[in-house]
Amino acid sequence: MKILIVEDEKKMASFLERGLKEEHYAVDIAYDGEKGWEYAMTNEYDLLILDWMLPKMSGVDLCQKIRKEGKTVPVLILTAKDSVDDKIQGLDHGADDYLTKPFSFEELLARIRALLRRPAHLTDKTVLQCSNLKMDLIKRQVWVGDQEISLSQKEFSLLEFLMRHSGEVVSRTAIAEHVWDLHFDPMSNTIDVFINFLRKKIGETPTKSKIETIRGTGYRLACP
Ligand code: CA
Repeated sequence: MKILIVEDEKKMASFLERGLKEEHYAVDIAYDGEKGWEYAMTNEYDLLILDWMLPKMSGVDLCQKIRKEGKTVPVLILTAKDSVDDKIQGLDHGADDYLTKPFSFEELLARIRALLRRPAHLTDKTVLQCSNLKMDLIKRQVWVGDQEISLSQKEFSLLEFLMRHSGEVVSRTAIAEHVWDLHFDPMSNTIDVFINFLRKKIGETPTKSKIETIRGTGYRLACP
């Protein structure tokens, strides 16, 4: 899952980036509202975290502008403002949630998980299942049958994306956009390499879940 952070305080931005990457999210950062707008319009994000007070365009204005474009991506607004009126203003402008600084990182993670569980993401669960494959999103554990397997951060994110779209064909572009960050080179064979790592780890038999290659298009996680 890929998150855009728009935050002008460099320390806060890098604290969030580091923390979210440790939690296996792909993260892009913009330091002002205009850059945030540019990124949000040219990339596919699963969640936006917008600081309220930003140079060039406020987080609330940015959120409103994004909604006017018809984008339904979940938006979480961060701010030092904590009056009820401010919260109402933020939510009225299309934000889905609101968190007041200072906040605990654990609370932020819980809210992110809640926002990513919206219907568009096809699950209201914290455990994903695809025939013999099971993934616990909170404990970050994966099982093949009764056997727990160990995955790297990227392998986990890639498998999570495939599991959220199990049975659907997902393109390499969609995978790159949701699992890797802006610096990813789409011409490299990285995705294919990671798919092969995953295939080895989840094992493949005709009757169990497996990652199929759809020639010229991408991949599909089949759950027989
Ligand atoms: Ca700020």
